[in-house]
Amino acid sequence: MGLRLPPPDRLTPMFRQWRAAKLQHPDALLLFRMGDFYELFFEDAVVAAPILDIALTTRGKGTACEAPMCGVPHHAVDSYVARLVEAGHRVAICEQVEDPRQAKGMVRREVVRVVSPGTFADPGRTAPGDEVYLASVHFRDGAPGGAALVELSTGSMMLAELRRPDDLADLIDRHGVRELLLPQSAADRGVPALPPGGARPLLTPLPDELFDPAGAADRVRRALAVASLAGLGCPDDHPALPPAAAALEHLRATQRVKPAHLDRFRVLRPERTLLVDAATRRNLELVCNLRDGGRRNTLLSVLDRTKTPMGARTLKGYLLEPSTDIEEIRRRQAIVSGLFDRSDRRRALRDALAGVRDLERLLGRASLGRATPADLAALRGSLERLPAVREALSEIDVPAVQRLAERVDSLEDLAGELASALADEPSGAPGEGRVIREGYDAELDEARELARGGRRLIAAVEERERRRTGISSLKVRYNKVFGYFIEVSKANLAKVPADYERRQTIATGERFVTPEIRDLERRILEAEERLGGREKELFDRLVEAVVGRAGRIRESAAAVAEADALASLAEVAHTEGYTRPLVDGEDRIEIEAGRHPVVENLLGAGGFVPNDTRLDSERRLLIVTGPNMGGKSTYLRQVALIVLMAQIGSFVPARSARIGVCDRIFCRVGASDNLAGGESTFMVEMLETANILHNATPRSLVILDEIGRGTATWDGMAIAWAVVEKLHDDPRLQPKALFATHYHELTDLATLLPRLANVHIAAREHGHEIVLLHRVEPGPSDRSYGIQVARLAGLPDDVVRRAREILERLTEEKTSAAEAIERAAGRRPSPQLPLFGAPTQDPAEREVLEELRRTDPDDLSPREAHALLAKLSDRLRRGPVP
Ligand code: ATP
Repeated sequence: MGLRLPPPDRLTPMFRQWRAAKLQHPDALLLFRMGDFYELFFEDAVVAAPILDIALTTRGKGTACEAPMCGVPHHAVDSYVARLVEAGHRVAICEQVEDPRQAKGMVRREVVRVVSPGTFADPGRTAPGDEVYLASVHFRDGAPGGAALVELSTGSMMLAELRRPDDLADLIDRHGVRELLLPQSAADRGVPALPPGGARPLLTPLPDELFDPAGAADRVRRALAVASLAGLGCPDDHPALPPAAAALEHLRATQRVKPAHLDRFRVLRPERTLLVDAATRRNLELVCNLRDGGRRNTLLSVLDRTKTPMGARTLKGYLLEPSTDIEEIRRRQAIVSGLFDRSDRRRALRDALAGVRDLERLLGRASLGRATPADLAALRGSLERLPAVREALSEIDVPAVQRLAERVDSLEDLAGELASALADEPSGAPGEGRVIREGYDAELDEARELARGGRRLIAAVEERERRRTGISSLKVRYNKVFGYFIEVSKANLAKVPADYERRQTIATGERFVTPEIRDLERRILEAEERLGGREKELFDRLVEAVVGRAGRIRESAAAVAEADALASLAEVAHTEGYTRPLVDGEDRIEIEAGRHPVVENLLGAGGFVPNDTRLDSERRLLIVTGPNMGGKSTYLRQVALIVLMAQIGSFVPARSARIGVCDRIFCRVGASDNLAGGESTFMVEMLETANILHNATPRSLVILDEIGRGTATWDGMAIAWAVVEKLHDDPRLQPKALFATHYHELTDLATLLPRLANVHIAAREHGHEIVLLHRVEPGPSDRSYGIQVARLAGLPDDVVRRAREILERLTEEKTSAAEAIERAAGRRPSPQLPLFGAPTQDPAEREVLEELRRTDPDDLSPREAHALLAKLSDRLRRGPVP
């Protein structure tokens, strides 16, 4: 936004103040507090009015500083800020920082915070289980080297080393980062690689020196107020420390307070994480569905029965970052198992959790100086539930559960302080007298009594004056401008006594004061001021008491969150009939009677046909064929989801499961495109396939649901074939893989590739009808049944009939197509012979080859060479001996 401001000498004092604030934050829309409104002026108003759908007016019309303006009421400011931020703007909030009644001249105003997409979790728009991340990235030799992620409202912070070119984009996609801080010099060089499609984060360039690696560790230590980073598992030269230092400094500057709840971070460890790239996350519909990006029918929607927002966030975090650490997986399993076995305790725990509010965000608001009395009451109510949470856990006789119970700190000291100080149902702002409990503080009680006494005296004056003057409608009233006054209606004005002083004439009568009323007013106002001041002081003290215990609150909140997330998994396991998988380091996946957790849910009880899966060192690749709609995609995904669930510590939908931990899961699904990102279906498919071939390892699980479909049949089949061969043969790859395909020719690969097996989804045919059994059976499918399924779908009879005719003709011609493949396959540099051909069977050719192999040309004279050549060509001409 270019700044075009009138010169200061043409501005009124108010606008001079506005201008000074605006110049400090030229790239933000300035919300300028004036009484009960926040006003925007000049270009800010022109930009904001249409976004907020409010009227654009003019201030000082016809004067030297005529200004476009619009404004929003202060009590609804959050929702307006949310709209501006959502539209991609930064917003600076400029408050009155002194009491207008006490101000001499202009009220002082200051920008108290700057809000941007990465720092604003709007309670109205951000689901409690969601997070709003700000990322900060630092570059080494031109490539991203390290990144820090901060969630301001909850105080969650993560540090990541960026090793591969895609790591930054992946981090941004995984955590839905809304804003990216980066050094100015990097921004000048061009935008770093961001995830394709989706919402792109707002880029916020900052001065390079904020990212200076020298002293970054010290700056982070100071900002977090910790003595050492080693305790957080972070060496002083971690590449994410420079961007972390920059982010913390940026937050301190824009929030104008030291966010005390930012006091620790987690170092992300890719080597202990089951890596799931963005495409796989989408294709498996872990937290967002493919249809509309919402939560419906996702794995998260099945598993999330948490009772608290912290628990919901933790569970989502598990799904986004499953583990490869067998010990950690088993620890979680032990807790889920303990809660699974003890339904009574699980119920008690979940009942207690239901009353626990968002401890992390409540603490966040307190740290940022934005806590309301209602927030403190919510915190009090939550802390009061924690003993019950702890008790429910501690009654489960499992060491891992016991350790978790011990981490639930119910902060009795703080709960007690809040209980004694805070009114039962605090209302209004601190200072209005309804926040601090009566009887808590003698000074406050006295001021309150004085104010009340004064008001009682005023009521008595009204009674007495009515009697004295004989005016029964006489009233003593109050307004902000005139304070207390006596109001008399027109009809009674003749009865007004001489000692009344006229203050104001109104349509219905007149307003008067008396010396007595003035005196009372002064006493009441004094008492109210004392009351207000004292209550604010006491409230601030309570907030400090909360912030002073930030570390303990966060620790306890983390334990509660974990208990909630794991209790949710236990609850789902119980109601959905899941079992505890054996998770170990063996190189195999064995699932007996596995189900797809989401499809099973959609089909209802008994509707889902369970299926087995075995993948190990002998049987690594499964080619899955079968009719359309048979359940190939469902089967493939169910294997991936079961592995992933096992690696978050969950029970799984199967009769039994033995899962050797995987390092990565890849899931590629045909026909998804990213037109917004400028990539066609086929291109997306090939990019994702290339990614798999570059990154899979023998510990990976690869799901390929139809590849090579976006191009001509033979091209597609050739690519699919080559990919399967590569996955099977290349010792660096050799992942466990499931491959669904309609290219039946590929099933022949089983004769050639020893670790590849065929399975198919069974169907029964009755005449032209087909019954889909959804049962996985060994061996390849005999054919596609595409036309039968098309008929099931209601394709008109004549089209179905015609399709059948065409199919018959194509089938007859298939040999020539197969020959084409044979030729392609003949180029394969392998001693084994191609799929659709065999080693030459012609004895004449074999004899010729034999003889050539035996011959050394160097031993032959030209004459002998000529004789040999004549003999060999003669042998070939005679052809095979019958
Ligand atoms: P296409 O080849 O057309 O892509 P597909 O073989 O991949 O089809 P899916 O999409 O996996 O088939 O499944 C189609 C439908 O069949 C599912 O939506 C589900 O309703 C049902 N289905 C799949 N698997 C099962 C199962 N194991 N038990 C019961 N119903 C199933």
